[in-house]
Amino acid sequence: MSSNPSEASDQKALLIGCGVAGPVLAMFLQQIGVTSIIYEGRPQPRDDAGFFLNLAANGTNVLETLGVEEQVLKHGHLSEKIVFQNHAGKRLGENQQETVLLKRGHLTKALREEALERGITIKFGKRLTDVKSSHEDMAIAYFDDGTEAHGDFVVGCDGIHSQTRKSIFPDAPEPEYTGIIDSGAFTRNESVPPSDGIMQMTFGVNGFFGYQKVPTGEIYWFENHERPQAPRRRELDEISRSQWKDKLLGLHERDHEPITEILRSTDGDIGKWPVYDLPSLPTWHRDTVCLIGDAAHATSPHVGQGASLAMEDAIVLAKCLRDVEGVPDVFAAFEALRRERVEAIVKISRETGNQKAPSNVITRKFRDLALPFFLKRGVESFEQIYSYRVDWDVPTEVGKFD
Ligand SMILES: Cc1cc2nc3c(=O)[nH]c(=O)nc-3n(C[C@H](O)[C@H](O)[C@H](O)COP(=O)(O)OP(=O)(O)OC[C@H]3O[C@@H](n4cnc5c(N)ncnc54)[C@H](O)[C@@H]3O)c2cc1C
Repeated sequence: MSSNPSEASDQKALLIGCGVAGPVLAMFLQQIGVTSIIYEGRPQPRDDAGFFLNLAANGTNVLETLGVEEQVLKHGHLSEKIVFQNHAGKRLGENQQETVLLKRGHLTKALREEALERGITIKFGKRLTDVKSSHEDMAIAYFDDGTEAHGDFVVGCDGIHSQTRKSIFPDAPEPEYTGIIDSGAFTRNESVPPSDGIMQMTFGVNGFFGYQKVPTGEIYWFENHERPQAPRRRELDEISRSQWKDKLLGLHERDHEPITEILRSTDGDIGKWPVYDLPSLPTWHRDTVCLIGDAAHATSPHVGQGASLAMEDAIVLAKCLRDVEGVPDVFAAFEALRRERVEAIVKISRETGNQKAPSNVITRKFRDLALPFFLKRGVESFEQIYSYRVDWDVPTEVGKFD
């Protein structure tokens, strides 16, 4: 594809999913003259899923390059560092990397609105059911309302349970349950002192707890505990809010305050999810169809990287489309540039999660002894993860992928 946007303007991209990767990719493609249409399965936008997340510098760098950093991050709060403690409140170490704490809905809403503002078409109520790549420069997406769309290529930005992935790779590995249940919510509690920009994280007796009280007075908290078998479908949905709150209070009754104080004061909804990841697919593309973000490599949330990696994918794929000739070669170049990094992060995140929730007193004691070493090693990995920056102006090294 040409590096001159005006020469590239007849390409049409079909992007499946309007979460994080979809709108970011669409905005980068617009900069190289490729027209995108985003097809979102939900009938209308929904910005309350997933409670909150951390965006690290490798993610905010992409937003900055796109010129949307201010719009997206204006509702965020700085986490200047993370302080780790044991169940008794003894300080074990810290991670000084800055991140932005952001409601997930604020992120997806700001990205979507910015894409619309820039003239990108987003079609809601278009749930992909199948995709076909008929030859080198043609792809067809089929939707559950009986319609279809034709384009030069399709990018599956449709998340961890991607239908695009199932359509092009029916035998691909399924996401793996990681043995952890994740919970999260917001509350307010006058007796909890301000966090002064510090995220507090505790390796508790029966689970892991993290919180930060932001300047608006709201407390953002999450909890992870072990559960070896994946819950059956809808099992967690059937547990009432108060039953779940009682369960978490029981799990953390031997941990330092204000953990149970925060849990007790939580009157709103408490999110609960089994944590899955997708460590490695044999390949991310077939003909004129490619996967990015969680559809290609979902990570557990323990190093706060899923959204940032999805945005990194978007800028790298757009650069490949700008600099590499022929769609299948573009996708091969993209995968070659991304696979090693993202698979390493999925692995580090899984290992981090395993440290959080020991299953019995022996593994807990061993964990507590090993924690200082583990935290030191973790901090070094974080530095490598966060410092990654994609320079939009530097051409992709095409020859590398021959
Ligand atoms: C509880 C939790 C905590 C997290 N914490 C963090 C964190 O701290 N830091 C971080 O960086 N990341 C975090 N993440 C991960 C992050 O949210 C994801 O990695 C990120 O959203 C992936 O972006 P995506 O665009 O690939 O997929 P998504 O954001 O999941 O978007 C996929 C979109 O595709 C749509 N879709 C699905 N199927 C179809 C279909 N068949 N047809 C059309 N549309 C479809 C969906 O409705 C959705 O809008 C967390 C996730 C969860 C659940």
